[in-house]
Amino acid sequence: VIDGEKFFSSHADFADFIICMAITDPDVPVHQGASMILIPAGMPGVNIIRTPGLGGEPLGHGHHPYIRYESCRVPEENLLGGPGQAFAIAQTRLGGGRIHHAMRTMAMVKNALRMMCERALSRRTQGELLAKKQMVQDAIATSFIQIEQFRLLVLYAAWHIDKGHRDEARTFIAAVKVQMAEVLHDVVRRSLHLHGALGCSNEMPLARMWATVPVMGIADGPTEVHKVTVARQVLKGYKPYEGLWPPDFLPDRVAEAKAKFAKFLDVEVGNL
Ligand SMILES: Cc1cc2nc3c(=O)[nH]c(=O)nc-3n(C[C@H](O)[C@H](O)[C@H](O)COP(=O)(O)OP(=O)(O)OC[C@H]3O[C@@H](n4cnc5c(N)ncnc54)[C@H](O)[C@@H]3O)c2cc1C
Repeated sequence: VIDGEKFFSSHADFADFIICMAITDPDVPVHQGASMILIPAGMPGVNIIRTPGLGGEPLGHGHHPYIRYESCRVPEENLLGGPGQAFAIAQTRLGGGRIHHAMRTMAMVKNALRMMCERALSRRTQGELLAKKQMVQDAIATSFIQIEQFRLLVLYAAWHIDKGHRDEARTFIAAVKVQMAEVLHDVVRRSLHLHGALGCSNEMPLARMWATVPVMGIADGPTEVHKVTVARQVLKGYKPYEGLWPPDFLPDRVAEAKAKFAKFLDVEVGNL
């Protein structure tokens, strides 16, 4: 019997079933006490309170409803996986979901760059094309470089997933999730800006793309949480040092080098 609330349940207003993640064993740590339960559409006790809509959508539109579960009785065979396995299942699904967000982001930023270049090559102000102005060239070059860096990061993450490198896939998926919000923000802003008033209007797709920027930094986990994952994973590859001074403390390194090469130093200065 499910009781509780969930804000933002994507597509639950029209999907054939909902996957509900709920605590089924409150006596163990939360990562072991949550299970996934399939709830067919129309089940009594699943009450859609409202659909808040995303920025740019009219209030009440959109497909990310706020749901209240009130004494929703679901048969035990609707358990997805085993009891307590929700976090493990979620990680498997979310990894794929995040790299998919990254691929869609790639398509969006490539489109934004195309529009930026077409505009720069077509619009004249003060007697010359935008494409001739150095600050515009900076916007184009920086966008191109960011997009290509991001594209390679996404491909590398996908390669780790394909190869079954669990640890690396985790690090790179989180890195991609952080970077997609940054690249989308930077490239769409520049493209929109280069289109002037037209870019701000509803007569180009750029303002709509701009509205997706904050979503990319929040949906499937906020940027900060993914940065924590990256940092933890990176830190696993290093060890603390003993004593007061770091291994790269230059006075110690110089002393070591002098001791190691003392013989040659003596030859060099003509002592032997
Ligand atoms: C379009 C969209 C669709 C969604 N669809 C679904 C769905 O289908 N199913 C589902 O379960 N959820 C869904 N979500 C919810 C989404 O997973 C959460 O919104 C997201 O995980 C952030 O949680 P929150 O909204 O509670 O924000 P909070 O957790 O309150 O975070 C708000 C802000 O606090 C800061 N913050 C949070 N945690 C940390 C931290 N550890 N360190 C430092 N700063 C931190 C960050 O700045 C963060 O942006 C969807 C969200 C969106 C926007």
